[in-house]
Amino acid sequence: MKKHNFSAGPCILPQSVLQKASEAVLNFDGLDLSLIEISHRSKNFVNVMDRARELALEHLGLQNKGYQALFLQGGASMEFLMVAFNFLETRAGYINTGTWSDKAIKEAKLFGDVVEVASSKGANFNYIPKDYQIPSGLDYLHCTSNNTIFGTQINNFPETDCPLICDMSSDIFSRVLDFSKFDLIYAGAQKNMGPAGTTLVVVKEEVLGQVSRKIPSMMDYKVHISKDSMFNTPAVFPVYVSMLTLEWLKELGGVATIEKNNNKKAELLYNEIDRNPLFKGFVANKEDRSKMNATFSLVNEDHKLDFDTLWTEAGINGLNGHRSVGGYRASMYNALSIESVQVLVDVMKEIEKKA
Ligand SMILES: *Cc1c(COP(=O)(O)O)cnc(C)c1O
Repeated sequence: MKKHNFSAGPCILPQSVLQKASEAVLNFDGLDLSLIEISHRSKNFVNVMDRARELALEHLGLQNKGYQALFLQGGASMEFLMVAFNFLETRAGYINTGTWSDKAIKEAKLFGDVVEVASSKGANFNYIPKDYQIPSGLDYLHCTSNNTIFGTQINNFPETDCPLICDMSSDIFSRVLDFSKFDLIYAGAQKNMGPAGTTLVVVKEEVLGQVSRKIPSMMDYKVHISKDSMFNTPAVFPVYVSMLTLEWLKELGGVATIEKNNNKKAELLYNEIDRNPLFKGFVANKEDRSKMNATFSLVNEDHKLDFDTLWTEAGINGLNGHRSVGGYRASMYNALSIESVQVLVDVMKEIEKKA
């Protein structure tokens, strides 16, 4: 039986998507050829890329609004430097809410001044900073919508005069937002969309082309746009699986529908974390809790062996917390069912009875 996969990333994908993806590896589109052995310039694959780009914009409500969707390589980590390459002329602002923001800041500093507009680093990133002042004259402001490792999520995004750039790797397509607030959104596929190996970049075309430095072709968003995201050989399999996931999401009713499911799953688990005296949450303020990654721990580590045995026996995978937080992390991405969350909650109740 398939495990209840709470892994933080790479993570659970819909079973129907895995089925279709595996079929395409053997025989794609009835061509009697594998998806991964045909030309990426073939009509069959170009259709996949076009459809994936179209669906991404559709799900974000950004069609015909001057945005372009790209499927690039190098992971979200490549975007840390590509963003700076394309936008940082003198000074950029960063909101530091976790390890990934911290890494983005490190890369941006190679290109210009970085102002940490707000940071929760002093408290091991257990909250989302609010009420900060955004200085004027920034080339852009960068934020991370969901902090995969610490389990916090931004609900109120800053109002800016400068371009707003967001790393949405771990909560893209999980909730409805006014995505037109953002000038560039990026997300590594492996958290809510597909296999590792491709990164979705959604960018408003008019904000590009403002820096004076020379940009190598592979680093230049404008080059990738001009080639319809086919400047070089794209990651054909990850793009195909991402397209299948985006189709799956559309059939389900889109982001608004999945958001309702995600809210129910998060409520079920957080209610148990709050109710059960054996557990405590990591995040300081309830309003900052991530609906994607719930971080929690045992109040008393003496129960660790019993709890770990119970959830493993229940068929749960990927529950250990990141080493910088410890404890547990239950990642509840789009494809995870509420039944899986119920299995975890039942195990938490069972350990309470045993204790
Ligand atoms: C996982 C993750 C990254 C890193 O993604 P890679 O594709 O491995 O480079 C960056 N940002 C966030 C928010 C993440 O969750």
